[in-house]
Amino acid sequence: MPDEDAARGLPAGLDSAVVQRALLAWYRRTARDLPWRRDPDPYRVWVSETMLQQTQVDRVRGAFVAFLEAFPTVGALAAADTEAVLRAWEGLGYYRRARQLQAAARVVMEEHGGQLPDSEVKLRRLPGIGRYTAAAILSIAHDRPVPIVEANSRRVLARLVGHDRPVGTAAGDEPLWEVAAGLVPRRRAGSFNQALMDLGATVCTPRQPLCGRCPLAGCCAAHATGRRDAIPAPLPRRAVIERRETALVVVHRGRVLVRRCQAGEWWEGLWDFPRLPAADLVAPLSLGRRREIGRFHYTVTHHRIDLRVVSCSAMRAGPRAGRGVAKRAWVDARALEELPLTSPGRRVARLVPALLGPGRV
Ligand code: SF4
Repeated sequence: MPDEDAARGLPAGLDSAVVQRALLAWYRRTARDLPWRRDPDPYRVWVSETMLQQTQVDRVRGAFVAFLEAFPTVGALAAADTEAVLRAWEGLGYYRRARQLQAAARVVMEEHGGQLPDSEVKLRRLPGIGRYTAAAILSIAHDRPVPIVEANSRRVLARLVGHDRPVGTAAGDEPLWEVAAGLVPRRRAGSFNQALMDLGATVCTPRQPLCGRCPLAGCCAAHATGRRDAIPAPLPRRAVIERRETALVVVHRGRVLVRRCQAGEWWEGLWDFPRLPAADLVAPLSLGRRREIGRFHYTVTHHRIDLRVVSCSAMRAGPRAGRGVAKRAWVDARALEELPLTSPGRRVARLVPALLGPGRV
């Protein structure tokens, strides 16, 4: 439909009907068997798409199944204890997504009778639901002809039309949203969008795309002009900031001290071991001699942290939790297992069982 396609803003030579037919036929043959695809109701699509933002599919598979077992409905998620939600999110990272998911579930229960809305405007008013997630819910769960652009489909679309400017920002992606809108079919939009994502994940990969196996090779501008490795152009990288920190494992009568990360910290709501100096936490405890028990590196956004882990014993437990000290707790090894910990906190926790017991610190 070249005339219609030109009116929809597609470049000359790109026929939406050809792309749709090729991609949907390829998807029928090769669609990945992913747990959220078996029954794509709005809640399952929403949870899976939220998990898939910034987390690899292989990690999400198991976490999704466990999360849906723990919180099978919007109502169950809304009513759950936030710590249980954060615990179920462990391993996926970016915990803000979990907090927003639950906050949105509560709004859905209070304002939408427990049903996720089926309009883009209402969906995007919910915490954590942006343009992409709303489009995924509408197209996959409701088969609405709504385009999507995310990490994988962005690359396919950019190469398909030869878009050689940097992408990955709202402004940079805007031309690709227009291309996606011009391509999405009126029916089977959900399959088409998932096919685009699958193609980007398995064939049109960032490096060495498998053009010989690509159903769109015949209409791909990057392939035709030999620019597949140059598209999409990378965004300028942020400089990495190196930091050194010390985590303190304080032991007192078979328990260790943990603190809850506060609003404005990276892992708000999760538990972690105190990081030095932590004067407010450790000053009242009469600490013994410190010794190093481990050291590792981890990365958060563009920060690379060199974390030294030291342990020591405490003569006193300090004041009881209450005003001013509610963010800390003494926990034994079993409670530590159950606690939603930061990812470095979980690594430090693996050192704890060897410390508990008389005379170990
Ligand atoms: S032909 Fe190659 S570069 Fe073009 S969409 Fe297919 S895999 Fe990607």
